[in-house]
Amino acid sequence: MLQDKVQEVFNEPGCAKNQAKSEKERKKGCTKALKPGAAAGGCAYDGAMIALQPIADVAHLVHGPIACLGNSWDNRGSKSSGPQTYRMGFTTDLSELDVIHGGEKKLFKAIKEIITQYDPPAVFVYLTCVPSMIGDDVEAVCKHASRKFGKPVIPINAPGFVGSKNLGNKLAGEALLEHVIGTEEPEVSTDTDVCIIGEYNLAGELWQIKPLFDEIGIRLLSCISGDARYHEVARAHRARLTMVVCSQALVNVGRKMEERWGIPYFEGSFYGVSDMSDTLRTMTRMLVERGAKKELIDRAEGVIAREESRVWRRLEPYRARFDGKRVLLFTGGVKSWSMVTALETAGLTIVGTSTKKSTKEDKERIKKAKGKEFHMWDDLKPRDIYKMLRDSEADIMLSGGRSQFISLKAKVPWLDINQERHHAYAGYDGIVALCEEIDKTLSSPIWRQVRLPAPWE
Ligand code: SF4
Repeated sequence: MLQDKVQEVFNEPGCAKNQAKSEKERKKGCTKALKPGAAAGGCAYDGAMIALQPIADVAHLVHGPIACLGNSWDNRGSKSSGPQTYRMGFTTDLSELDVIHGGEKKLFKAIKEIITQYDPPAVFVYLTCVPSMIGDDVEAVCKHASRKFGKPVIPINAPGFVGSKNLGNKLAGEALLEHVIGTEEPEVSTDTDVCIIGEYNLAGELWQIKPLFDEIGIRLLSCISGDARYHEVARAHRARLTMVVCSQALVNVGRKMEERWGIPYFEGSFYGVSDMSDTLRTMTRMLVERGAKKELIDRAEGVIAREESRVWRRLEPYRARFDGKRVLLFTGGVKSWSMVTALETAGLTIVGTSTKKSTKEDKERIKKAKGKEFHMWDDLKPRDIYKMLRDSEADIMLSGGRSQFISLKAKVPWLDINQERHHAYAGYDGIVALCEEIDKTLSSPIWRQVRLPAPWE
């Protein structure tokens, strides 16, 4: 059954990357064989955990050896405005004896303990490699516990060995579609209810967007999964519109919500001035097309005009400071197109970007904005990045934490813009915050010092 689900995800019509492949290639899935010496990315379980853990009031129970939880616990800075249950590390901590006798009883006991002590609205049970291989019937345990305790106990069937982190994101989405979304009704529905999919409130980014929605009159019915509550996710099917923020991670949820409940979806971005304004325009236009009052568009235009003029004023000092500064963008590909335009707005020159995780549409967007000559790398090796930086082809690298050491070894400034970042870069305020951080990194005196010959040389 899991195999069927995995194949279904690989055939996802909403995923442009998979649709561009032949049927044979699609069956093989997205996982590439690792070359000796290469570091592996996260597993499918890790991807599922990352996608759902931001649901703040849920107890996330990892059924497996303790290291699986250790690998993924709190690895994103998703913020919650209320409950902190999501940050508790719950695990069944399977050991050798459980491999022999099975872990089902231990799982049931763990669910009981969590419900008795913490009383969360739901428990999500994540399968890892060990219980899947020894054949624990986790679905049956969850069903039994659900009946016994009168609470949703949801199995998230994405054991690590089935594939990549990205596949795990999608399997997590499938679990929501199967067990959560559509199981409750909201007390009130409005014409401006929206659901955002694939926004994780990293460093509080959702809070940079939400006040704009409130001012325009857009009601955020549900966010999957940043700063979310279980009941909000269960009611997401009453949204008038969904916005998919990261097309790579949870596009299957957006497409299936359209299929099941007739909710149209669009892909948008909150990064950069023009993309933020485009998102607000598309959202209000689509809501009006679905019956919301026309004033919504006027209010959105008012907010856009005010925010844009405010943000240009705030960006002005940086434009002068960034003149001639070149950026190497290495985001892994997600939202590269949006980041490219956002950084250029601030006066930076982008020397190239990685597009490893970008869809065909994403690449087209970059080409359209930058022309065909612009450097886009699908698979830039660490030694090539190092060479570029050492040869002073860029003044700063923006990337995730894993690539930071290449930059530091080349003695070139580096800024974290991936999931572990501590600053929120979304919306109009976010681009100013990003410029502030780039400026601080570029002008830090440390770079002058590390480039000097060592005293003993
Ligand atoms: S690959 Fe398997 S054992 Fe390793 S962290 Fe992922 S789920 Fe756990």
